Amino acid sequence: MRIGVLGGGQLGRMLALAGYPLGHEFTFLEPAPEATRGLGTLIAAPFADAAALDALAAASDVVTYEFENVPVAAARRLADRVPVWPPPGALEVAQDRLLEKRFFADCGLPTAPFAVADGREALARAVETIGLPAVVKTRRHGYDGKGQAVLRVPADLDAAWAALAPAPCIVEGWVDFARELSILAVRGRDGACACWSLVENLHGDGILRRSLAPAPGATPALQAAAEAHARTVLERLGYVGVAAIELFEVDGSLVANEMAPRVHNSGHWTIEGAETSQFENHLRAVTGAPLGSTAPVGVSAMVNLIGDLPPDAAVLAIPGAHLHRYGKAPRPGRKVGHVTVRAADPGALGERLGVLQALLAAEPLRP
Ligand code: AMP
Repeated sequence: MRIGVLGGGQLGRMLALAGYPLGHEFTFLEPAPEATRGLGTLIAAPFADAAALDALAAASDVVTYEFENVPVAAARRLADRVPVWPPPGALEVAQDRLLEKRFFADCGLPTAPFAVADGREALARAVETIGLPAVVKTRRHGYDGKGQAVLRVPADLDAAWAALAPAPCIVEGWVDFARELSILAVRGRDGACACWSLVENLHGDGILRRSLAPAPGATPALQAAAEAHARTVLERLGYVGVAAIELFEVDGSLVANEMAPRVHNSGHWTIEGAETSQFENHLRAVTGAPLGSTAPVGVSAMVNLIGDLPPDAAVLAIPGAHLHRYGKAPRPGRKVGHVTVRAADPGALGERLGVLQALLAAEPLRP
């Protein structure tokens, strides 16, 4: 099939790499294509460019997205001409932290307490209701920890508001979590649903640093709870494709933080670490094909390469290591690649990860 993709970053690149064996062809609409160069036809234009959207629709049998901040109006314009999956409604919910938290609550997913803060006074009222510590986040366009500030004492409110205003915000109660997890789920056009194993995620400065999958020590009950939450969310949205829900584990139960209506960084391990990758299953879903097994193959660790790349040969010398370069120019704080290390058991994985860790001279990978 001819697949149109809104966005042309590394997620689009990995979608295309999963799609070529299935015979799919790709057209990317992206203002500044870099990672998808050479992997399909590029339409270099802003997402709101009507002529570019019409050209993408004409070139596609189905359209999907790999970037969640594309304007909803662009997705709807495309949806008038060609099937668009996931549905634009999912984009709308995921783009606004307030709508997203309300939607989670409607679905019965526990969340941190939250309140709207559309002005400085509303911020003070929200903090009074929720208490401190708390986190204030812009409702829209936040990513990788940007657009948010931690409030520990009342004096922090002024600085936080100065940094984030006049953007409408929400305040969330501080969640004293044991660890961060995510559940990757896929839903087909026929309503069939499948989930991968829970993933344990470690963030630094708001950016994902490494994932372990299956999440060490996750009980079958925790996995079942996460899957039940994911199914409810996907069914309620009439969702087709892969989605990720980021969760906090608190006292053995799950608190929902946010969702991504697309393939997700915490699912990159599935390329080598699962029977079917998130990228392949996303394409299977949006093209109406049967879903593939999400069963893990051994145990995996995924480490993001941020800012710069280590020497290829040193990474490739580690048994079970798989290097993914994104074809992006190195820049501080930029995700330029990742490495997935796979092993048969956690002991061997720990050893291999230790070698990679030493190589990257990273902070300890276990908190
Ligand atoms: P987010 O952009 O919502 O994914 O937040 C980025 C990171 O900030 C999360 O991965 C957590 O590490 C942390 N964080 C976000 N919200 C909260 C919260 N309510 N309580 C504690 N930590 C949080």
